[in-house]
Amino acid sequence: MTEQIKPQPGIMEIKLYQGGASQVEGVSEAVKLSSNENPYGAGEGAREAYQRAVHDLHRYPPTDHLSLRGALGAQYRLDPDQIICGVGSDEILTLLAQAYAGPGDEIIYTEHGFSMYPIIANMVGATPVKVPERERVIDVDAILGACTDATRLVYIANPANPTGTMIGGNEVARLASGLPSRCLLVLDGAYAEYVEGHDGGARLVASRDNVVMTRTFSKIYGLGGLRIGWGYGPKDIIDVLNRVRQPFNLSNTQLAVAEAAVKDQAHVEKSRVSNTRLRAWLAEALAEHGVPSDTSCANFILARFASRDEAEAADAYLKSRGLIVRQTGGYGLPHCLRITVGDESACRRVAHAIGQFKGGVA
Ligand code: PMP
Repeated sequence: MTEQIKPQPGIMEIKLYQGGASQVEGVSEAVKLSSNENPYGAGEGAREAYQRAVHDLHRYPPTDHLSLRGALGAQYRLDPDQIICGVGSDEILTLLAQAYAGPGDEIIYTEHGFSMYPIIANMVGATPVKVPERERVIDVDAILGACTDATRLVYIANPANPTGTMIGGNEVARLASGLPSRCLLVLDGAYAEYVEGHDGGARLVASRDNVVMTRTFSKIYGLGGLRIGWGYGPKDIIDVLNRVRQPFNLSNTQLAVAEAAVKDQAHVEKSRVSNTRLRAWLAEALAEHGVPSDTSCANFILARFASRDEAEAADAYLKSRGLIVRQTGGYGLPHCLRITVGDESACRRVAHAIGQFKGGVA
C-alpha cells in the first residue's frame, strides 16, 4: 500500500537544510557564529513593537501587508505595489519557483551558491543546474553559457553566501540582458545592507521586466528568529506571487516588528559600521595566523585552511573553546570555515583561538 504512495518527483533528491548549531555540549557560554546573525540582536524599536504585539494575538493579520510595504517603500524608495512580504526571503525565493518552474524546467544556481536554491528547485520538481564559479566569484559567462530553452530561473546572491564575494552592477546587468526570454533573474540581496550604497539590484528591477530582488530582516535587522523577508519586482510578477502566497503568511507580530525595524535605521547603520570595522580586523588577524580569506562584502568571512582535515580540526578546536562556526563542505568548500563577524569580544576570541590552533598550542 505505502509503496503506491510516492512523493512528487524531486522531493527525495532534497538534501535536508543544515542549520547552524547553537550549543556545544559541556560549554556554557558558547558564541554562535554559524548563521550570520546580527551580534547586537534586534533594535530597540523592534523589541518594543514585539512587546506591544501581544495585544493583537487574537486578531487575524492583514493579508495585504500594506503598512509594512509602505514603510519599505518609503525607506528604500520603491513602489509599495511592487513589493511582496514573506516568511523570510526563503518564502519569496520559493514562491518564485512555485510560480515559474516545474518538472522539465531548469533552475540555475552557482557552484558555491546558497544551499536553499537546489532545495527549492527539487521542491517544485525542476532540475537544479549548478554552474561553476571563477575562484569563488560568480561567473556571468558561465551562467549565460549554461542557459537552455528550459531555464526558467537563475538564483544569485550578491554579496554571495558563503563566499562573501560580489560582482559589480554592470556584470549583473549583463547577466539580466543576456538571459533567454522565458528566464527570470532572482537577485538575492540578503546581505545587501552590509554594502554601503548598494541597492541590491533595485534599479535594475525598475529598468527590466525579468529581474526580481529578494531581501531579508534576518541579517542586519537582527530578526532571524521572527522569519520576515520581502521581494521587489515587476508588478505583473508580484501579482503572480501574491496568488501563490498564503494570504495570512505573516503574523501581526512579524508585520509590526518588521515595520518598526525598517523605521530604526540607526540600528542598521550602527550594525553596518561595526561589521565593516570588525570584519577587516578579523580578516587581517586570521591572515596573520596564516588563514587567508577573500575580501568579504557581507557579515562573515570565509576562512581558508590548507586542507579539509585542517579545517575540520580548526572547527573542532574552536568548538572546544565555545566558538561555533560553519563548515562549508556542503557548499563545495571543505577546506574552509565560514565565520560570522560577531561583536568585538567574539572576534578577539576567534582570532586568539585560531592563533593558538595554528601555533599548535592546545
Ligand atoms: N539568501 C541567502 C544568501 C542567505 O544566506 C539566507 C540566509 N542564510 C537567505 C537567503 C534566507 O534568509 P531568510 O529566509 O532568513 O530571509
